[in-house]
Amino acid sequence: MQTSPPSLDRLIRARAIHSMTGEMYRAVGLRGAGIVATSAEPDGLDGLAGAGTVTTDAGDLTLLPAFADSHEHLMEASRNTLLVPVNRAHSIAEFTATVAAAARDAAPGAWIMTTMAWHESNLAENRLPTGAELDIAAPANPVLARRGGHLAVANTAALTAAGIGPGTPDPPGGTIGRRSDGRLTGVLEGGAVWQVAAFAPAPGQAQLAEALARGSAAYAALGVGTIREAMISPGELLAYQDAAERGTLSVRVRPLIRVGNELAVDQVTALIGGLRARSGFGDDWLRVWGLKFVMDGGVEGGALEQPYASDPAQTGHLNWDPAVMAEVCTGAVRRGWRIGTHAAGDRAVRTVLDVYEAVAAATGPLPPWTLVIEHALLSDPVQRKRAVRGRFGVTVQHPLLWNMGSEMLQTWGLERTRQVNPLDEWLALGADLAVGTDIARPFNPLLNVWGMATRGTKAAGVQGAGHAIGVAAAVELYTMGTARLNHHQHRLGSITPGKLADIVAYPADPLTTDLDDLPSLTPAFTIVGGRPVHDPGGLLVSPG
Ligand SMILES: [Zn+2]
Repeated sequence: MQTSPPSLDRLIRARAIHSMTGEMYRAVGLRGAGIVATSAEPDGLDGLAGAGTVTTDAGDLTLLPAFADSHEHLMEASRNTLLVPVNRAHSIAEFTATVAAAARDAAPGAWIMTTMAWHESNLAENRLPTGAELDIAAPANPVLARRGGHLAVANTAALTAAGIGPGTPDPPGGTIGRRSDGRLTGVLEGGAVWQVAAFAPAPGQAQLAEALARGSAAYAALGVGTIREAMISPGELLAYQDAAERGTLSVRVRPLIRVGNELAVDQVTALIGGLRARSGFGDDWLRVWGLKFVMDGGVEGGALEQPYASDPAQTGHLNWDPAVMAEVCTGAVRRGWRIGTHAAGDRAVRTVLDVYEAVAAATGPLPPWTLVIEHALLSDPVQRKRAVRGRFGVTVQHPLLWNMGSEMLQTWGLERTRQVNPLDEWLALGADLAVGTDIARPFNPLLNVWGMATRGTKAAGVQGAGHAIGVAAAVELYTMGTARLNHHQHRLGSITPGKLADIVAYPADPLTTDLDDLPSLTPAFTIVGGRPVHDPGGLLVSPG
């Protein structure tokens, strides 16, 4: 006796772009978590529909594979929803008033932690608040105003709680800001941020898991299906596991676990050995990507081959001795770990290449996307050739140029700012690239695509127009590129039968729509693993 295949769970009649080859379907059939059938005809899958099939007729929508962010801080973005929202301030006065309001609500001595998602370029004064200003806003509470991953402003109570005074030396890979008379400014850079942050109480695991549910939903609403989480602690992995087990994550997560350069070598070895797992551990929703190292700072602190434009005495800092890091990474790779290393400046990129080449020489040939350079904001042609020759993949994030173009112009100068992430040159060499954001807040993927296609920025105009790439190429690196980075190119990255059903629907075709309209285009719905995770119009709901 013959049985017919089980009917579809979901049938979507819409224009579906299989991948960037331009192949187009008119109907997509889902069952369980996966895509099981496609057809070039709108009614081509009708025979697979049954009584339980939810059908969506949306011939005017265009379906793309959901975006996969190669480098983003979902944990930070989620934690930010628990923190003091200084990102809404437009002036120093509004910034300090927000801190003062939080201090009024807090118990005396309780830490005031601000969101990291703010920048002084959004303040009328275009400068950081000072530690003294935070003292006035919150005299009885330690205040730590972290800005992004590499910089913070602390008030006196926070510095005191961390045991930092005028006589404290700078930590390795960091700077404690000082005025010419030796008094502290409150500004902390690099390792100095961690030196203070370590004293602030962290939110509990349950609170973080709830924040991840809210945080991940905001990304899914913008068409993101996967986030490679660029840096968490082993403890934070438990919050992810809680959220994944409860089914409250709206995006897939591929975390990197931080290996801190402030640790001694034996502590690093103990940390990696103590993880008792290796890259790839987990399931389709939550799967450990690998280990994260940080070689230099950001725009401030990035290790450059030539002095900063803003300070001829400054070339940034390197956090790791290359020989030590090569030894640690060789051991980790032999244990089955993949490694991603933050390298912003060209001197950091060159040093990471030295490390990675030493690792590959010790271990023998490694699969692509085992040793990865994060950012490579600045690189020279020789470095790019070395990366391609070694199959060291690179994650690239236009939103860093978009958001911090003005700071780059000021700190690095015009020529280097124009050369940030020359995607056209990388692609011409055949580099392994994957696109992401690294901005620690939900960011419209199509604004990112627009940026790669125009080199446009938020406040610094167009920088390096010659390095623009096409929209289809950008989307490819943002879907298949990241799928390859995550070693899931056979399961994700395109709308293909047999792959997981991660799909975003747009009211216009992003590949052909006017470039200027891309930044304001947002999804009609998002599906991850067959599950509607964003459906404001109820298009995926059964009419019955
Ligand atoms: Zn990052």
